[in-house]
Amino acid sequence: MLDMKSIRESEQYQRRVQLAADHKGIKLSVAELLDLDNDRRRRLQEVEQLRQRRNAGSQEISLLMQQGAKDQAELKKQEIKHINLVLGEQEQKLREVEARFNERLALVPNIVSPDTPVGASDQDNVEVRSIGEPAVYPFPMRDHVELGELHGMMDIGRGVKTAGSRGYYLKGAGVLLHRAVQQLALDRLMHKGFMLLDVPLMVRTAAMENTAFFPLGQDQAFAIADEDRWLVGTSEVPLVNFYSGEIVDVSEPLRLAAASLCFRSEVGSAGRDVSGLYRVHQFAKVEQVILCEADEKVSERLLQEITANAEELLQLLELPYRVVAVCTGDMSQKTYKQYDIETWMPSRQAYGETHSSSNLLDFQARRSNIRYLDSEGQLRYCHTLNNTAVASPRILIPLLENHQREDGSIYIPQALRPYMNGIKELTIQ
Ligand code: AMP
Repeated sequence: MLDMKSIRESEQYQRRVQLAADHKGIKLSVAELLDLDNDRRRRLQEVEQLRQRRNAGSQEISLLMQQGAKDQAELKKQEIKHINLVLGEQEQKLREVEARFNERLALVPNIVSPDTPVGASDQDNVEVRSIGEPAVYPFPMRDHVELGELHGMMDIGRGVKTAGSRGYYLKGAGVLLHRAVQQLALDRLMHKGFMLLDVPLMVRTAAMENTAFFPLGQDQAFAIADEDRWLVGTSEVPLVNFYSGEIVDVSEPLRLAAASLCFRSEVGSAGRDVSGLYRVHQFAKVEQVILCEADEKVSERLLQEITANAEELLQLLELPYRVVAVCTGDMSQKTYKQYDIETWMPSRQAYGETHSSSNLLDFQARRSNIRYLDSEGQLRYCHTLNNTAVASPRILIPLLENHQREDGSIYIPQALRPYMNGIKELTIQ
């Protein structure tokens, strides 16, 4: 959510918001929002005046009654009856206008940073740096599904039998790897001062709205039938919501992390990435969330920090990757500035997105009502940031494919070995 006062008061800001909506593909007219805002404020004033007249009239009636002026009191009562009638109608119209205004307000996107590339889709993202060279294989390489089956690490057929499309089972060493990458990520983040949380995976509608996953994006979420509860698509929702409605101390940035399951309907992705483990309905993710003071220099530095944390993990996993600056058309409503990290996936002969790192400024905190006292004693909304630390099973794709050998065995990076129950490499039995 943006500050309506700022939108109201600056034409330049209005143009920036409209541009962000157009570039992010959000159907919103700032002019219409302002009309509704004017209408709402005018009606609110009228309703207030009518309420004042009614209250003053009621006092007059009791005074007239005390003085025994029954006829005048009766006239006043008739007048108040009329005021109540008009007030009822005006309150109803105000409620309607407010509902329309709030609907539009919920669609208002965050503005984007001046260094965000303008573009229509992920094709227009701009590479910032690439680390490590994609390997050239002097032998026919296997994709992660073949490797997974060869080593008895996954069963997609039975996954689909049980869970439907995009279902999968991980087995044996596949489970160990899946858990190893998450535990390595959690350990690294704990070492860096992140507070670990185990979070609710079913949350109320309000938590989804607070964190700007609803109303846009509601079609991505699975609902729990007949309850005001939804399965989370990311632990960013319960992590940020941990502080909703609170006044927090951000004299030191609040660094939070969670490993959680994530559930996504993936509507709009029908037919895309249907084979293997790239795009599934249920996956695990270690997420980093930071809340800090509302100073863009501070949140920009923290954006670089959480991006570096993810890069460090990829380096520990010995995988080639690149960082891209995400363009306007590939950004969500809430995002001010975003980097994606894409890891080399040999079977795709391309980099595939494995991490998303975002600075939201105060957009999410405003919706979640998370504030802090600044050095002048003023209450302000804080800035929030988030990034993946690792998401599995997607990360197993580059992990298995990049580390395969000609004989089908798979190298396990040193950093993962302490979590692998003594397994140093995967060999074919
Ligand atoms: P996001 O929270 O959408 O920024 O996604 C963060 C990361 O989660 C992505 O970069 C992927 O690694 C992973 N991810 C997102 N959606 C899926 C999915 N449907 N299946 C598997 N992994 C996913």
